[in-house]
Amino acid sequence: EFAEISLREIDDIAKSSFPMCMRHLFEKLREEHHLKHGGRMQLGLFLKGVGLKLDDALAFWKAEFSRKVGAERFDKEYAYSIRHNYGREGKRTDYTPYSCQKIISSTPGVGDHHGCPYRHFSEENLTAALSRMGVNSRALGDVMSKVRNKHYQLACTLTFEAVHGTSCEAGINHPNQYFSDSQMIMK
Ligand code: SF4
Repeated sequence: EFAEISLREIDDIAKSSFPMCMRHLFEKLREEHHLKHGGRMQLGLFLKGVGLKLDDALAFWKAEFSRKVGAERFDKEYAYSIRHNYGREGKRTDYTPYSCQKIISSTPGVGDHHGCPYRHFSEENLTAALSRMGVNSRALGDVMSKVRNKHYQLACTLTFEAVHGTSCEAGINHPNQYFSDSQMIMK
């Protein structure tokens, strides 16, 4: 378990320590004030894993969704599933964040923003996203060659190494591992 993160620091932390799959969802949520079910699950469980408490999670999602569907509809239609993810509704299962394998094998449809960018983005969009993360052109070539060989987690590992300027020998196999390894380096 990680230390709690607060809502005040979440944008900075997303920039510095979220893997691309979560950064993308986070940015789309901020931009469109909405995410479809697959995105809400993938990002929501990840945020729970990084230490966002239920009350903060509700406030976080409500602040965005209210701007799109209104606060009342958020409370009626969306709050339940967030509490559900935290094991406070239904069977009270404590759901765990998705692994890379699960995310890579998901099948996002039109208008969905979940999935793994290394697997699901076009080359053009992936290249642009890598540049935005600060990956230089030499590393970018290495990442894209892993992608072309369908080694998505290796591509993510190389991105981690390029962004943090350090090696990641264990490799990336879980978005929450990417996050905790990153936070360890930042501190
Ligand atoms: Fe996310 Fe894993 Fe894909 Fe990296 S390899 S972007 S952590 S799903």
